[in-house]
Amino acid sequence: MTQPSSDPAWFPLSLRLDDAPVLVVGGGDIAVNKTRLLLAHRARISVIATWLVADMQRWAEEGRLAHIAAQASDDTLRAAIPGSRLVYAATDDRALNRHVAAIARGMNVPVCAVDDPQPSTFITPAQVHRGAVRIAISTGGAAPVLARRLRAQVEAMIPDGTGALADFMRARRQDVGAACPDIGRRRRVWESFLDGAGAQAARAGDMARAGRILDDLIAGKAPGGEVWLVGAGPGDPDLLTLRALRLMQDADAVLYDQLLSPDLLDRVRRDAELVFVGKQRDRHTMPQADINAELVRRARLGQRVLRLKGGDPFVFGRGGEEIEALMAARVPFQVVPGITAANGCAAYAGIPLTHRDCAQSCMFVTGHARADGVLDLPWDSMARPGQTIVIYMGVTSLPALCAGLTRHGLPGDWPAAIIERGTRPDQRVLTGTLATLPALARDNGVGSPALVIVGQVVSHRVISP
Ligand code: SAH
Repeated sequence: MTQPSSDPAWFPLSLRLDDAPVLVVGGGDIAVNKTRLLLAHRARISVIATWLVADMQRWAEEGRLAHIAAQASDDTLRAAIPGSRLVYAATDDRALNRHVAAIARGMNVPVCAVDDPQPSTFITPAQVHRGAVRIAISTGGAAPVLARRLRAQVEAMIPDGTGALADFMRARRQDVGAACPDIGRRRRVWESFLDGAGAQAARAGDMARAGRILDDLIAGKAPGGEVWLVGAGPGDPDLLTLRALRLMQDADAVLYDQLLSPDLLDRVRRDAELVFVGKQRDRHTMPQADINAELVRRARLGQRVLRLKGGDPFVFGRGGEEIEALMAARVPFQVVPGITAANGCAAYAGIPLTHRDCAQSCMFVTGHARADGVLDLPWDSMARPGQTIVIYMGVTSLPALCAGLTRHGLPGDWPAAIIERGTRPDQRVLTGTLATLPALARDNGVGSPALVIVGQVVSHRVISP
C-alpha cells in the first residue's frame, strides 16, 4: 500500500459525528484521549482491543462504546472498518498503527494514526475551546509537546468569556444585519462593540449591558468613556495580571506613574496615548486633584482611560481618591488589583511575610513623613514581636524609622532588610538589623523605590540554590 504524499487534512472541527460510527483501534492511554473527544462529539464508537484501561472499561460498561475484544488482526479490521466514518489507529505500536492506516486507506475510510501524520489522511490538532469558538494547533506531528505548550499559551490569551461573547454575537447577528444593511457599517458596529465595553460586558456575562451598548452603537451614539484603575505590579512585567494586559491592549489613553518600569509600558497598545502624570517625592508632576480631573475629562470625551499604577491601586496608591472623583462625576470605572510591592519584593527576595514560628501578623505602613517632617505612626502597635512590618516609602525616613521602633521596644539586633527596585533585573537586597540598616542603606546608596521589611522573617530568608 503506498503512503499518501500530500499533508493530511485537519480533523474537520465542525464535522457532525452525531451517532456516526467511528472505529478506535487500541484500548490504552493513547486511545482514551481520542475516545473522550469522540464521546464529546457523540459518535457511535467501537473499540478493537484485547484489554481496556479503566476509563474505557467504564464507558464500555455504561454502553457508551462497543468493545470488540480481539487482536487487531487483518480479519478483525477488515470486518470492522467498512461503514466507519473515521478510524483512529491509537495503539502504542507505531508499526501496527501504520498497518491499520494502510488497510483503512485501502478501503477509502479516513484514518488518523495518532501522532504520526505520514500514514494518516487526517490529524487531530490540539484545541482551545470556548463555547462556539475553537482554535486548533498542530505541528503536523513534528513536535506534539511543542503543540501542547503553544496550546497552553493560547489558553492563557483567550479570555474565559469568549464563548459567551460569541453566543451573544450569534444571538444579535440577524437584527444587527437588519438594522445595518450596509456591510461596511455593520462591520464597524461590531468592531466598536468588540473594542469597547460591550464585549467586556458580554464576556463577564452581563448580557443586558452588552445589549444596551450594542443598541447605542447601532443608533450611532458614541460609546461613553470609562476609566480602568489598574495595578501593574512592582515592576517585572511577568507579574501583570491577564486582565491588566488585556486592558493595556484596549485602552485609548494610559495615564501612568513614576513607579512604572518602561518594560511595562512596552506592552501598551501602540496607538494609545501615553500620559505621564507620575509623582515623585517633592516633585509632583501633576497634583492629585488634577489627575482626578484629567481622568474625568478624558472619560467624558468618550475615551477608555487606563490609569496604570505601580503595585496595587488600593495599597498606598490613592486609588480610593481617584474613584471617589469618578463616582462624583458618574464616570463608569473598574478596579483591577495588582501584586503589591510587599508581595513582589518579599517573594523575589526570598523573605516570607508570615512564618508559623515567628510572625503571625504582617502590617503595611507608610514611612512618608508629614509636611513638618514628623513620622506620625502607630509605634506601639508596630513594635511587637510576632509581627512583620513592611514599610513603603521609607528610604528617606529610614534612620528615624529604625530609631523609633527601637525606642518603642524592639531590640537593636532585630532583623531588618531593604529591597531596592524589587522584582526588577537590578533588584538589590540588603539585610541587617534595626541598628545597622540605616548606615548600610546609606553606604550602598539605596534609592527609591525601596521597601523595608522588619521582623524575624528576615532571618528566614531563603535563596534558591
Ligand atoms: N501601590 C504601590 C505602592 C505605592 S507607594 C504598591 O502596591 O506597591 C510607593 C512605594 O512602594 C515605594 O516608595 C516603595 O516603598 C514601594 N515600591 C513600589 N514598587 C517597588 C519596588 N519595585 N521595589 C521596592 N519597593 C517598591
